Formats: sequence, C-alpha cells, structure tokens
Amino acid sequence: MAPKRLLVVANPNASRVSTSLGSALGALFSAGIALDIRRCLSGENLRDLILAAGTDVDGILIGGGDGTVNGALPALLEAGKPVGILPLGTANDLARTLAIPTDPIRAAKIIAAGHSRRIDIGRVNDVLFVNVASVGLSVAIATAQDPDLKKQLGTLSYVSAALRTVGKAQPFKATIHFGDRHESVSALQIAVGSGVHYGGGLKIAPDAAVDDGLLDIYAIGIAPIHDLVALAPGFIDGNFAARDNVRTFRTASVLIETEAPMPVNTDGEVTTETPAEFSLHAAALEVFAPA
Ligand SMILES: [Mg+2]
Repeated sequence: MAPKRLLVVANPNASRVSTSLGSALGALFSAGIALDIRRCLSGENLRDLILAAGTDVDGILIGGGDGTVNGALPALLEAGKPVGILPLGTANDLARTLAIPTDPIRAAKIIAAGHSRRIDIGRVNDVLFVNVASVGLSVAIATAQDPDLKKQLGTLSYVSAALRTVGKAQPFKATIHFGDRHESVSALQIAVGSGVHYGGGLKIAPDAAVDDGLLDIYAIGIAPIHDLVALAPGFIDGNFAARDNVRTFRTASVLIETEAPMPVNTDGEVTTETPAEFSLHAAALEVFAPA
C-alpha cells in the first residue's frame, strides 16, 4: 500500500546525501506523501527516533548506505513498519539486491508506489546483518580501505584494497558445523551471506536470494596469488562459487569455529568474533521494492 506519511531518517555523513536527498524528498512530497524528516546521529538516538515515530507514520525511510540500514536494523525490526531505502552510501548492496536504483528520484518513486516484500535478516552471535558477515580476508580488506579513496572510487577502492591485501593473506583453519555436517576447511576467507550482493556490487552466488530463508556460505581456500587477484571479476559476475578453490554450502543456520578467536565483519564493520553462530530471521523485514 502506498505510504501516506513517512519518517525520514538520513545519515548526514552518507556519501551522496548532499547531492541526492533533496531531489528524492521532493519526489515523495510531489507524490502527496507527508514527511517527518529527522537527522540520524548516534545509534541510540536512531533507535529512539524510529520507535518514537510509532503509529504516526506508515513507513520509515532510511537515507544512507548499508551501514546506515544495518545501524537501524534492531529498531526497524521492533517498529515493524515497511522500510523505504534511499541508497545514498558508498556500498548500497541491499538496494542492489532489491533492484532499487541509485537514482534518487527513481528510488523515491518506488517507495511512493508502495509495493513491498519481506526479506530475511541474518544474525551472527548477537549482531544483525542485511548482506554478509565474513571472517578473514574481507576483514583485512575493510581495514585496508582508505576512507577518502572509498568516497572517490566506490567499488574500485574495494578492489584496490583487495589487491594490496591478498598478497599478505594468511590462511586459517576453521570448522563449519551445520545439520549433521562438520566441515574442516583451510581458508583465506569465509563469508556468510543473506542477500545477493556485497562489497559494493560483488555477487555472492548467481542464485542467492534475500528471501529464501537460507544463508549462503562460502570458504575461499588457499590459492596462488594470481588466482586470488582473478577473484575480483569472479565476484562481480557471480561465477565465484564455481571456482575450484571455493567451497559453498547453503543452510539456515551454521556455527563457525576457528582455532583462536577471529574478528567477524558484518555489513562492513567488525562487530563480533568467532566462534560465530549464524541464524536467519526469515522474512523479518518488510521493504518497499520494485514489483
Ligand atoms: Mg538467502
């Protein structure tokens, strides 16, 4: 159903907020939607803002990237209102997964049209994620990414950081437990995805879905450097999972253990560590998305 009144929470630091937020809000206003516009500050503040809007609004618009959506997740799940996504960040993988365009006016029109769908939300230990949680290489790449370069180059900054990081990557031993299976792997990276895209447009697996109630797990094994460098286009076209040194699993819940605790990155931020227990809240979040 088309929303009549939206709470608008925008991250003032999102990379495209100054250039795109105004035209998106203009398009929503022209569509006859009343807007309650707020600035999001700290996580605590964000939660209060979202929950205080309560019954006064029939949708919550989040302006920002995946990090902004991730930060709002606990409050969004609690509020239970449909969520509009204005992809204004550097990484907009959730929007990409949902086929929400980065053009602000087109994204606003999708919200105004009011078509919604329900998507799965991942959980690792006590942390929620919308796209992916990972251990190993991607944590090192995220740490190596220069924030200024990230604003300028977007996905290319990820590739650039990846190229600088893979040469120094050390494999680690892990056990992946799910169902009756206990898979031992020696990996440079293990990633667990809920959606389709991550890392600024890189594809988890060609047939991954954000509403199938399943997590896609892949473990990248030890490989020669030239193979690792070649992984970048593999990620982008989604043929990554077909490579010899990649093992993939699909399950609704999984436990990943490593010899020593290792940091876990959720949607771009290090938030928890191994042992990492993953589960999925199936169809937990209602989002405005193209029909
Ligand atoms: Mg899935």
